Amino acid sequence: MQSRFSFAISATDGTARTGTISMQRGEIRTPAFMPVGTAATVKAMKPADVRGSGADIILGNTYHLMLRPGAERVARLGGLHAFMGWDRPILTDSGGYQVMSLSELRKMSEEGVSFKSHLDGSAHMLTPERSMEIQRLLGSDIVMAFDECTSFPATRDAAASSMERSMRWAKRSRDGFDAGGEHASVSALFGIQQGSMEADLRRISADKLIEIGFDGYAVGGLAVGEGQEAMFACLDHAPSQLPEDRPRYLMGVGKPDDIVGAVERGIDMFDCVLPTRSGRTGQAFTAHGPINIRNAKFGEDKGPLDGSCGCPVCATWTRAYLHHLIRSGEILGAMLMTEHNLYFYQALMAALRAAIGEGRLTAFADTFRKRYRAEA
Ligand SMILES: [Zn+2]
Repeated sequence: MQSRFSFAISATDGTARTGTISMQRGEIRTPAFMPVGTAATVKAMKPADVRGSGADIILGNTYHLMLRPGAERVARLGGLHAFMGWDRPILTDSGGYQVMSLSELRKMSEEGVSFKSHLDGSAHMLTPERSMEIQRLLGSDIVMAFDECTSFPATRDAAASSMERSMRWAKRSRDGFDAGGEHASVSALFGIQQGSMEADLRRISADKLIEIGFDGYAVGGLAVGEGQEAMFACLDHAPSQLPEDRPRYLMGVGKPDDIVGAVERGIDMFDCVLPTRSGRTGQAFTAHGPINIRNAKFGEDKGPLDGSCGCPVCATWTRAYLHHLIRSGEILGAMLMTEHNLYFYQALMAALRAAIGEGRLTAFADTFRKRYRAEA
């Protein structure tokens, strides 16, 4: 029988690593990109096509699913995998970030966060214990600890007290997860490092998380508007404070060049709405940088979205056709743009894994950046 959770690093190149996470529902090749399936769907994509793009794991959102259709209902319907028709690993976030960014009338306390739903105004409470219970009801494979996402920018005192509360909540998350019976024996729990841009606070946070003990560790509190330069400055030290033999997950990142730079700095897992969300609005990612397919110059362009892409969309349809679909608000436009973008991201991850495996990551990254930042 497959182990509950293991992480094997097959090669390193500088501080970058490539390897495999093994879980009961399948293997996750790292560095990995997780498409975001907010409301039990990767928007505009059928699960088989998500898998076809190369994804080993997807992300589900606790905040959205607890409000609609409700975690208890998903559990009665057999769990999130059966409900949405995806049988491979699912990572769920804790709901902490989205409760702060989406809900109304929030009230924070040591106990947790009480809030009103952005959908119907109904009252709810999220605590570390309730977040663990919801993620268990969903049947999550990788559960995230419930934390407080420190606002940015934060004063040093605010960053310190927010991090300390997150560490108390990390312990409560660990205890809540471990009390989950059967689910705890087949799934994994990740802790989340906080501490804003302060290296010493991140060190304290990492040490506390290691003392509690987790299967993997996320670098939290980034991709909150600090910009790439500040994010990379933080990633120059934060990953090395986390255990070498456990996966490191950078939450909510990012643009293709963010991912390349973070992989160079030792990150193993990513998630972001960018390929799906921007696909629906007409942005396509290409080896030569993003393009906006709505632009008039694509109206009679007979070429594919990206000449170097091997996806089914680029094999079949022209930029001119996609330009027409998106401009006309056709549903197929959103579907095809999303599919191409997810393929682009997964092809990038595969290329990063190969480059690390062959010890040529620096050359690959330099070539990628040079091409990506040139005009499409
Ligand atoms: Zn393509």
